[in-house]
Amino acid sequence: MPGWIEVGERVFVRRYAFLDQAVGLIVGEREALLVDTRSTMVQAQELLRDIAQVTRLPVSHVVNTHGHADHAFGNAAFRPAAIWAHARCPAFLRRTAPDQWEWLRETHPTLADELAWEHGTGEPGWTPSLPDHLVAESALIDLGGRAVELRYLGRGHTDHDLVVIAPDAGVVFVGDLLENGAPPQFDDGFPLDWPGTLLALLAIVERAPLAGGEWTVVPGHGDPAGVGFVRDQAALLDLIASLGRAINTGQMLMEDAIELLPFADEHPDLAQGAFERTLEQLRGELTLD
Ligand SMILES: [Zn+2]
Repeated sequence: MPGWIEVGERVFVRRYAFLDQAVGLIVGEREALLVDTRSTMVQAQELLRDIAQVTRLPVSHVVNTHGHADHAFGNAAFRPAAIWAHARCPAFLRRTAPDQWEWLRETHPTLADELAWEHGTGEPGWTPSLPDHLVAESALIDLGGRAVELRYLGRGHTDHDLVVIAPDAGVVFVGDLLENGAPPQFDDGFPLDWPGTLLALLAIVERAPLAGGEWTVVPGHGDPAGVGFVRDQAALLDLIASLGRAINTGQMLMEDAIELLPFADEHPDLAQGAFERTLEQLRGELTLD
């Protein structure tokens, strides 16, 4: 199975160079479950071919960890599978899909042809195939001989991040609540809630998994990691929220706070964006569905 890493028993991760994405596959005795669908139908069809190297079982369940293009725009390729997501995900996609489509086309000109082929001109009403199995807090999916748990742990990278847990294998897919090798992305984030959401994730992965050993945590981008990585990222998100509060009360200048973030040298724009988003949330300017 070239390209796939088996991170737990019959739980696989496939990395793709485009956006350094990590896609998950959990194989039961009767059915398989896919975590995230990539950015275009062409990419999703490549993923389908890659899945065929791992299992002949039907991919009857798909989870969108959240509604960003690279996690949900390939949805249609997997129908008639049930597509699971948090209850706020369809509205997010309806609201943002045309802009996300436009962003993809502008930032990745090599995708322009396949995006045009799939979605015409990216007309205002366009959305990917929308999730139809919606989760408020949690859901359990039986794949035959193994159950997969979906959990909403609170706002973070978006207001609708789901984590996908294979308890018997000790693996959790966390979408972009964590990114490995890139800074957290705050564009649609909730910086004041994110640390608490990661504490809820820590409460899950700090217990020994049924399979023994330690949990494997699979971020939406970059290498799979362990519990220590979750702790480090929880501390970073906590630092961002604390510094944001200090900027807001005038105890610190934003430029000084930016200096304190470990990714500021490489990504000063993202560091500033993280604080601007934090200030927006502190001022009550982030709209909620
Ligand atoms: Zn994302």
